[in-house]
Amino acid sequence: MSQESRTRRHGVTALLLVAFVSIYAQERIDHDTYWKIRQEATTNSHILRTAHVLTDRYGPRPTGSPNLKAAGEWAVKQLESWGLQNGRMEPWDWGNPGWLNERLAAHIISPVKDHLVAEALAWTPGTNGPVRAAAVQITLPTRPTKEELAAHLDALRGAVRGKIVLVGPHQQVSVTFNDPPERREDREVLQILNAPPAAGRGVPPSTQKPVAPERQPLTNTQLSAQVYDFLIAAGARVRVNDAGRDHGQIRAFANNTYDPGRAIPTVVLRNEDYGRISRLLSDGENVELEFDIVNRLYPEGRTSYNAIAEIRGTTDEVVMLGGHLDSWHAATGATDNAIGCAVAMEAVRILKAIRVVPRRTIRLALWSGEEQGMRGSRAYVREHFGTFEEPKAAYRRLSAYMNIDYGTGRVRSMTVFGPAAAAAALGETLAPFKDLGVLGANSTRSRQAANSDHSAFSEAGLPGINALQDPIEYDSYTWHSNLDTYERIVQEDVIKSAIVLAATVYHLATRDEMLPRFSKGEMPKRPGRAQ
Ligand SMILES: [Zn+2]
Repeated sequence: MSQESRTRRHGVTALLLVAFVSIYAQERIDHDTYWKIRQEATTNSHILRTAHVLTDRYGPRPTGSPNLKAAGEWAVKQLESWGLQNGRMEPWDWGNPGWLNERLAAHIISPVKDHLVAEALAWTPGTNGPVRAAAVQITLPTRPTKEELAAHLDALRGAVRGKIVLVGPHQQVSVTFNDPPERREDREVLQILNAPPAAGRGVPPSTQKPVAPERQPLTNTQLSAQVYDFLIAAGARVRVNDAGRDHGQIRAFANNTYDPGRAIPTVVLRNEDYGRISRLLSDGENVELEFDIVNRLYPEGRTSYNAIAEIRGTTDEVVMLGGHLDSWHAATGATDNAIGCAVAMEAVRILKAIRVVPRRTIRLALWSGEEQGMRGSRAYVREHFGTFEEPKAAYRRLSAYMNIDYGTGRVRSMTVFGPAAAAAALGETLAPFKDLGVLGANSTRSRQAANSDHSAFSEAGLPGINALQDPIEYDSYTWHSNLDTYERIVQEDVIKSAIVLAATVYHLATRDEMLPRFSKGEMPKRPGRAQ
């Protein structure tokens, strides 16, 4: 049968199936394989070993860094050793150099001697040897216009020359009396599952107060650029930001131009040290600090890579799963998202170990550039699938993409971009895992960019699936922070997640039809576009 007639036939049967499933959803679950998956996952788990290598050996893994590339290459080799095929590093154009911090020493020299706890801000330059200088603290106006900020900074020009500059007031972080819960209550998950699907059209109305048209406050990006331009021109030596979080936790992001030439050496200092220096300065003390920062740039990182490998199916249809391998740099990126990668890798390892022969190819992707706005997965979708509006040939052959990127917590439910029939099928696929805490699936109509790589697929109109997980310490401690290390992984939870992913992807790869997707008439419009 020719490719053409084959796809046509699929189109017709898929339509009939949607009608059928939405009324009498009845997935034929292969309980024997589900049992084998549980057996292999619990008696022979490789997850911790994988997570150890991705974090301790290759972390941190910022986009464009040699660490990330080496982690991807190791993963591909590992996947091939488990029997996966077509392992490859697929390049895409990221356009910015790679960056890594190699060394950071931070000290207060006077009026008291002590070390300080800091992280470098990514894509800023190093100090080119130790820099010892007096500290000054400046504040910035709230939502200034370009001219207001210029006037404000101009008055500070003399004060910052040759100095180490603390930018902003010390943030008062109050004591947390009630830590957020590590687990989601069943009723919270059920509430999420029973809520009406997220709307697919338009952008929610802005909650910001309307601004008089003659006043044009700077965006954060513009403000940041103008402050750096000033600090460079005024001859400031080092910039210090307040981490603004408790217990020494530091979330360090990037100079958002990704160009160290447009910044000065910058650290994010733990809130407690920032407060100490602020209080000493306001006592009128002369505070002297010293920073020694070595950052390195990698021009070859302008090309970044998604790591790909497959379990070959017997048809040309595909089911994908994955998560992002890139991380922030303040720790080794364990819960964000080495562990998601390790879980997805474990899922395909399990399927290989129990020798499944899927109808559809099961393709694993470990993305890069997620932290910069899902750039790796978006590039992949563009290259391979196109969009609903401008599809490539493979567009109709992808059944679904399943994403995992919410820390170490066990999977509790899944959300699919698609019609109710897709959620019904997925819900039945997951039903045998109630004992592991999985409570079902729901659907969304949103083609908005969301917070992880599933939305690169949903944006294009493809069935992106995202896993809801227990938070454990993700939002409170580990997300993008200097505390995101291997130690924060909960083995019991990640084994459960691997079982659920392996079984779901297996079922989607073997069920008669692809997962139901929106018909032409049902497909939500892309936000912010005319068609
Ligand atoms: Zn992430």
